[in-house]
Amino acid sequence: MNNVFMNTYNRLPVTFAKGEGSWLFDINGKKYLDFGSGIAVNLLGHNHPALVKAITEQAAKYLHVCNYYTSDVSSAFAEKLVEAASGAGMKNVFFANSGAEANEGACKIARKYSLLKYGQGRHTIVTLKGSFHGRTITTLSATGQEKFHKDFGPFTEGFIHIPGGDIDLLEKTLDEKKVAAFLIEAIQGESGIVLQSQEFINAAAKLCAQRDILLMFDEIQCGLGRTGTFLAFEQYKDTNGNPLKADIITLAKGLAGGVPAGAVLAGEKTKEVFKIGDHGSTFGGNPIAAAAGLVVLKTVNTPEFLAENVRKGEKIMSALRKNKKIKEVRGKGLMIGADIENESWPVIEAGIKRADLTKNQNGLLILSGGANTLRFLPPYTILDNEIEQGLEILDELLSC
Ligand SMILES: *Cc1c(COP(=O)(O)O)cnc(C)c1O
Repeated sequence: MNNVFMNTYNRLPVTFAKGEGSWLFDINGKKYLDFGSGIAVNLLGHNHPALVKAITEQAAKYLHVCNYYTSDVSSAFAEKLVEAASGAGMKNVFFANSGAEANEGACKIARKYSLLKYGQGRHTIVTLKGSFHGRTITTLSATGQEKFHKDFGPFTEGFIHIPGGDIDLLEKTLDEKKVAAFLIEAIQGESGIVLQSQEFINAAAKLCAQRDILLMFDEIQCGLGRTGTFLAFEQYKDTNGNPLKADIITLAKGLAGGVPAGAVLAGEKTKEVFKIGDHGSTFGGNPIAAAAGLVVLKTVNTPEFLAENVRKGEKIMSALRKNKKIKEVRGKGLMIGADIENESWPVIEAGIKRADLTKNQNGLLILSGGANTLRFLPPYTILDNEIEQGLEILDELLSC
């Protein structure tokens, strides 16, 4: 059956048929504990009652109106989302359907902002090595990983990748005559959970402000409360200890808890760059996604819920740090990477193969973050006893 798919994914030998909370069940009824949330998408786990209710009720009302109009539910979602990101300086939103599309929108805003203010030639967008910003031709250009840069050229021009942490190089690269924007993940996800230092973020914020270079945070994986603040970069403060402000923020993945959704949020400088006709998306702001997104925001963005993500994350990280097979643990909240001696992929495979009905054994779903890194992005709703079960299974997988 699988050969009807294009061969783009290295798929594991499992086909899922049902989900419940932190668990997925395959077509044979075997049970798997989900430590990956479908790559940071199922923030509220599977089959979450409030999410199911909102989606089904919305489906019964109407599924889609085009962007000639607005809808009650997408207006409400936009309002709540802008409010949630207002502490980071956000004023309005454009809805897309995916992360790549959100970053495309961000790059378009950056290019136009700079063109209108400074004229031709100041269009470069700087990003970091190891970053991941999407799979379209332009967001591949933005992605600072060589392995994605083959076979598909010519790519969109005007992107430069520099290593994170090098403040001198950053200062040189953020040339105010050439650079429109700096696009950065506060915590890189895809390349194995890489955190940026406070000094580097402060330097970036300062240089961007001084040179009128837009500071754009890709919060597609690290945002939405996963690290304990609504946006991951909100944990970084400016040199006076005040919250940092961004010029643009992109969100996707868990934004609608499993329904496709993406968003570009704009601050004071950038909120009026797009004019009528500049950008669009048929499905952007889709009512089903908006109804789901409202539930996500309402559930996730409370101090108690965010604090729980931190507590659960620390519980996982402290257990991982005690594991002798693990060399290094990095993370914030429920965004965790663990470097191991051996390759990560066989461990991930073993997590699937462990599921066995005759032995009454469950599987464990883990993600990879590069050749030797295991990546954990559990649902926020995971229970303490599930964390403990998952850690036990992991221990067993690593001991084989
Ligand atoms: C997943 C991801 C993207 C791309 O999102 P898609 O929805 O797959 O297009 C972009 N940036 C980051 C940080 C991501 O993790």
